Amino acid sequence: MSLFVRTIVRKRDGAELSDGEIADFVAGVTDKTITDEQAAAFLMAVCCRGMTTAETAALTFAMMNSGETWDLSRHGFVADKHSTGGVGDKATLVLAPLLAAVGVKAGMMSGRGLGHTGGTLDKLESIPGFRTGLPKADFDRLLDTVGCALIGQTDSIAPADRRLYALRDVTGTVESIPLITASILSKKLATGAQAVVFDVKTGNGAFMADPKDAEKLGRALVDTTRATGRKASGYLTAMDRPIGEAVGNANEVAESIRMLSGEGPADLRENVLLLGSDLLIAAGVEKSPKDARRRLNAALADGRALEVFAKLIAAQGGDATVCDDPARLPQPVAKRDVPAPAAGVVARIATREVGLLAIELGCGRAKKDDVIDPASGFRVRKKPGDAVAAGEPLLVVELGKAANPKPDFFDRLAACWTVAPPGTPVESLPFVVAAL
Ligand code: URA
Repeated sequence: MSLFVRTIVRKRDGAELSDGEIADFVAGVTDKTITDEQAAAFLMAVCCRGMTTAETAALTFAMMNSGETWDLSRHGFVADKHSTGGVGDKATLVLAPLLAAVGVKAGMMSGRGLGHTGGTLDKLESIPGFRTGLPKADFDRLLDTVGCALIGQTDSIAPADRRLYALRDVTGTVESIPLITASILSKKLATGAQAVVFDVKTGNGAFMADPKDAEKLGRALVDTTRATGRKASGYLTAMDRPIGEAVGNANEVAESIRMLSGEGPADLRENVLLLGSDLLIAAGVEKSPKDARRRLNAALADGRALEVFAKLIAAQGGDATVCDDPARLPQPVAKRDVPAPAAGVVARIATREVGLLAIELGCGRAKKDDVIDPASGFRVRKKPGDAVAAGEPLLVVELGKAANPKPDFFDRLAACWTVAPPGTPVESLPFVVAAL
């Protein structure tokens, strides 16, 4: 029996693998001495049998070390953030320049839309000229000159994850907490930040809808990051409704600009302050969440955060005048209200379906090579707990040039909002469901 088969069999039978067995297996994944069949069998064994904390850490390190690992020590303290993704989640766009504005460097490697969730890179690329495919040298330059960087994943980071992720996608092994943890962290930790705050979404629009699963994932992310000697904290936050009003790409950038100008929706502000204050404390800039929030709010109110965002856009090749004039972002060619069918209270939003309908409209990709329509999206007007009059808009659909919704699109979208008689109990999570 080959070494790799023995490892698969041991995991199949529920044994705890050693660091060496896991490292050898990941080396085989990277140099392709392991076949797709063997890698897939291993993934299924992990999916069914699980992994201990020590095994998850070993898998994370081995996958992280399968490619480049970046040393950012010359920049001093660098902060990072990870969200498990959701609908209307634009916190990174605000948080990175905001942290830089208060003197905390923020280096973030972001992703594209995944499933029903939007992607930070897709949102940023709706800014004319903005480039996200930048190498490490540019990441360093941006941290030196702007204080923050928002780039896409490079091929040299965690190549083992790319191969395993593609196999998970076609073998029913995506939903495994150790595999998700190692996948996320192998990339996150390879880019060298000293502190990471995790925003693990839960609720009907989250990748992990069940709060118990979300909490297990959050704990694994925080504990494994701490096991590498870095600072880590995290929260379970509500994704049973979109964050803010804008869902899409250019409209989410415009909403982020409003937030960076000291305006914008309260839930987005809460999201940004919650995560940002942990990072300010981790950086040693403030001691208490109250003082950290005060410092962050001041940089939103006096224009410093927006100034950094404009510098970042210019340094990444984009048109920074969008910060003064968001109308220079791609604009919809038409808008259409989706009215409430009756008077009452919004009892629930089927958030995952809203995300899927946004993709159908052109805000994301159904297939890998689909082209995004940056001007398309939604503007959410009513959230759970809001009273609504008959015929009042629940949301507004913004149609970009390429949008071509099916005839029943608007009915399916309206059906995502449950409008119940006044006084009906509302299903809605508190914004912070738990601290990790
Ligand atoms: N994001 C990742 O990078 N990997 C996963 O497994 C899930 C989400």
